Amino acid sequence: MHNLMQDWPLRVSAILDHAAHYHADREIISRSVEGPITKTTWSGIHLQAKKCAQALRKLGVAPGDVVGVMAWNTARHLEVWYGVPGAGAVLHTLNPRLFADQMSYVIDHAGDKVLMVDLDLLPLIEGIIDRLPKVETIIVMTDRTHMPETNLDVLCYEELLAEEDGQADWHMGPETDACGICYTSGTTGNPKGVVYTHRSNVLHALAAQSPDMLGLGSADTVMPVVPLFHANGWSIGYTAPMAGSRVVMPGRDMTPPAVYEMLEHGVTITAAVPTIWLGLLGWLRDNSDKRFSTLDRVVIGGSSCPRAVIETFQNVYGVQVLHAWGMTEMSPLGTVCSFKPEISALDEAGRLDAQETVGHPPFTVELKITDDDGVTLPEDGEEQGKLWCRGPAIVGSYLHSGESATDADGWFDTGDVATIDRHGYVRITDRSKDVIKSGGEWISSIDLENAAVGHADVAEAAAVGIPHPKWDERPILVVVPVPGTSPAKEDILSLVAAKFAKWQVPDDVVFVEELPHTATGKISKLTLRDQLKARGYT
Ligand code: ADP
Repeated sequence: MHNLMQDWPLRVSAILDHAAHYHADREIISRSVEGPITKTTWSGIHLQAKKCAQALRKLGVAPGDVVGVMAWNTARHLEVWYGVPGAGAVLHTLNPRLFADQMSYVIDHAGDKVLMVDLDLLPLIEGIIDRLPKVETIIVMTDRTHMPETNLDVLCYEELLAEEDGQADWHMGPETDACGICYTSGTTGNPKGVVYTHRSNVLHALAAQSPDMLGLGSADTVMPVVPLFHANGWSIGYTAPMAGSRVVMPGRDMTPPAVYEMLEHGVTITAAVPTIWLGLLGWLRDNSDKRFSTLDRVVIGGSSCPRAVIETFQNVYGVQVLHAWGMTEMSPLGTVCSFKPEISALDEAGRLDAQETVGHPPFTVELKITDDDGVTLPEDGEEQGKLWCRGPAIVGSYLHSGESATDADGWFDTGDVATIDRHGYVRITDRSKDVIKSGGEWISSIDLENAAVGHADVAEAAAVGIPHPKWDERPILVVVPVPGTSPAKEDILSLVAAKFAKWQVPDDVVFVEELPHTATGKISKLTLRDQLKARGYT
């Protein structure tokens, strides 16, 4: 029998067409880089994205060319999000927090021909332009009045778009065309490029938007606090228009009062890493008259979410937490902790225990855990092992690596260590390189950290293994106290001791003013170990 269905390529441009047609007047509220709060709609974004695609073509951007975009979460970024692939080009999101060496590496490695940059980020490009021989054109994403002074030869985004009428067609081609590139932050060695296709982004967004995952709908207002340049923007640039949701873009300012102000623009669901929420909840504690008027769900992922954060959101503010796990390599969503009926049926403590896991995968994500010899382990919630994944929106090989990133059966090693229970709920216990090995047993650094953060005066905590002559490694805790407080070592350790076996309790607590972070806001254990070494912990 021949295939008798239509050949309708899964391309991301169709997502924006859908939003502009069926949710045309849904608002996009944005804090612009220039300052003011702007308002547009999905049809407004669609028109601008078409003009952006036309302008890029006029500049000589051909299908398959790579366009680097370094921008905050604004309406303009959404225009470019669709304008670049709409011209057939590949959108390479750039994290402005990368070190100069990494930044020039990724721009050069991906072969960016055009750079589109927010006006305040132009100095970052000025500093490395000598190392970017492949870059031909730089576009500053603002209007003529706000164009910054620069020695670089730059074009003005709004001027370029003003010359276009938005009447061109999107570039068409196979759904397997490259659509976007995102580099992992590369805590060891150089960052690695993950190339998403139109097909993988559409399939991933369909899965991510489903009820047990983000569960977005046209009645939602979504605010991605997570930057669009972090891990494919957690796909919100695709899921929101696919669902026809209203969107609030928070701009550059990630301070608690600024995030709170934008949440009060009617936001029902938001998403970011735990650090953002720890900061916001701390600020709310000091501003007790403030409540959330509309917020209903908060997606927390990127690193493990402490139980205290989940409890505060749910019990104090009535906001449901969706603890999520994923990776740049997975487009990025792997699992979300929504409640299956068997979890809903538990009492409150049981449900909270479940929320310390990262939940279960959607259709299109296959998971398994194995021992070091590759033997699949039982999904009993006890056995922990290497976590592997497989699916249509998961990396096959890294850009220009020339080799497969998976094993012969297509499984990708996440580098995480996890348990999976009989309901399919995954508990991430560690990254394999961060596991603390003491006396032949493993201690989860994540669990230690989450227990320590349960202390009211602990703002942030990191657990690392320090070499030990008898036990191989012993855990120590590095703690950043809440400003103005000085928690006692013994209190922190006794809080931890309540949840751990005696031999798992850290040998020491080291207080520091701040912890080193990676470009995506995670604690950099590599740098931390070096710092500890310098302080004599060897
Ligand atoms: P980067 O290293 O560039 O920040 P990713 O965002 O892709 O890259 O990081 C993915 C990793 O983040 C995962 O492999 C896992 O170790 C960690 N991670 C993500 N979400 C969680 C979570 N909810 N709990 C614990 N670890 C998480």
